[in-house]
Amino acid sequence: MLGELTANEELRARLEFASRLGALGADAHDFVELFGALYEETARAMDATVFLFAVYDEASETVQVIRQMDRGVAHEGGSFPLGKGFTSQVIRTGAPRLIRRWSAEGPPVRLLYGTESGELVAPQSGVVVPIRSGERVLGVLSAQSYRPDAYEEAHLLSLGAIAAQAGSHIKRLHATEQMALEHERHALQLEAVLASMNDALLIVDARGAIVRLNRAARELLSLDGASLVFGQPLDRQRLEQWPITAREIAAALVPVIDALRAGTSVDEAEVELRAGERRVLSLAASVLRSPKGELQGGVIVFRDITGQRDLERLREDIFTMAWHDMQTPITVIRGHAELLLRRLSSGDRDPNAAKAAASAIVKHADRLAELLTTLFDVSCLEAGLLSISQWPTDLGAVVRDVMDGIRSTARHDIEVRADQTIVGEWDERRIRQVLMNLVSNALKYSPEGSTVRVSVAADEHHATVSVRDDGIGLTSAELAQVFRRGYRAESARRVTGRGLGLYFGRGIVAAHGGRMWAESAGHGHGSAFYFSLPLPEHGSDGPVEPRT
Ligand code: ADP
Repeated sequence: MLGELTANEELRARLEFASRLGALGADAHDFVELFGALYEETARAMDATVFLFAVYDEASETVQVIRQMDRGVAHEGGSFPLGKGFTSQVIRTGAPRLIRRWSAEGPPVRLLYGTESGELVAPQSGVVVPIRSGERVLGVLSAQSYRPDAYEEAHLLSLGAIAAQAGSHIKRLHATEQMALEHERHALQLEAVLASMNDALLIVDARGAIVRLNRAARELLSLDGASLVFGQPLDRQRLEQWPITAREIAAALVPVIDALRAGTSVDEAEVELRAGERRVLSLAASVLRSPKGELQGGVIVFRDITGQRDLERLREDIFTMAWHDMQTPITVIRGHAELLLRRLSSGDRDPNAAKAAASAIVKHADRLAELLTTLFDVSCLEAGLLSISQWPTDLGAVVRDVMDGIRSTARHDIEVRADQTIVGEWDERRIRQVLMNLVSNALKYSPEGSTVRVSVAADEHHATVSVRDDGIGLTSAELAQVFRRGYRAESARRVTGRGLGLYFGRGIVAAHGGRMWAESAGHGHGSAFYFSLPLPEHGSDGPVEPRT
């Protein structure tokens, strides 16, 4: 009776063991959790006073102990190279070992736990089984006891069954670890790519909420971290607190995000920002879908194309100006040349008529050349290719010389105060160009007979030239724009001009490290234009000699 019961109990115990084995370690997310499950099951089946679970790395021939249990206390694992102990033997041979009496059978086990200063544990018997996958040994399980003869063949079989379960989980966890590493590597690579991109990039989810943005996008929006709430759609952001440029961009983003939410990509479109410094952005957006085709959101890319657009516009402007301004001289040159030809063919030898036609041709050819030079200079300035050759130059002498040349033909009263010698390292030809433009403007925009005053003055650091007239003057709104390329005030329209002189002049002065500015008390009150150039620091290079 008793024997039957015992047999029944034993059968039940075996069945329970078998069903537990099926689920063993299935929940483990990592090797430490797997260790816990393996230990628990081993402790049910046998004396597991000391228990060890190790995985084996074939490539480095290293045994990595995940954890060790000793008298109910779990100790940190560690790794060691494949050696001569039982664990290493089992790994090498792939065959299990039953050690009935350790002292008699073989290399005494000396486990040393780093946590217990110097304490050596010496179990008396043990079972060590390999964890295998086909021919390969993935690791070992080992149960030990401080008693001799604590284990029999049956224990070896039980631990073998547990080890068989462990095999598939080790493979699963290795694969997961590998995948996690791969993911991490991909994420890091992606992160690096995003950060190094010059284009601004925004990622939105399927609801249209901003979930990521790269460094360039953050700079473009000039938002600090606090003012952009991740995971919130644009209409729930505190847009009123955003800087004006960011709000302009947000307004441009609304239709793009709507399109993405509807599953439509957006081809390249342009956005012009006007609130701060004028900027032209090109914007494109692509829908992101999961492999199954579900809408996941989208990527929006911004590129600053201001420079590109400006250059295109400059080319168009230059072309239009050239087209417009060359017509007259070309027509005049052609007309006079034709006239000259006709005279010569008809035998008309009137030298005065021929001379007049020839000098008209020369004059208009000069105008053409001057026009081409200006257009060339302006495009060089714009492209950052303007060459400045600096030599010791006396600004007083340059002003006197330019004004002497002008005085002979001007119908204005010209006053010059430029007696001093002011020497600096400047490009004389370019400075002449700047001054000529200011003086010819003063003459152009003021009535004949009025006075134009030109003076040069210097302090310790700068030489400043001023050109004043009693002409049409400028309002403060006009003053703010006179240095823009192609700008011409309404009041100046009756006089011919291209709106390039001041723009170019300011560029030349800036290339010398100086600045140019204008003052006027309004229409009818005359204008004053100034430019100042830096002087060499005293005493640093000794006296500078003007070029002769
Ligand atoms: P342009 O004289 O060929 O139009 P500029 O670049 O030299 O080109 O000048 C730009 C504009 O600035 C002029 O069209 C005019 O409206 C204004 N301006 C320049 N100089 C004067 C001045 N001395 N008095 C009044 N307006 C001026």
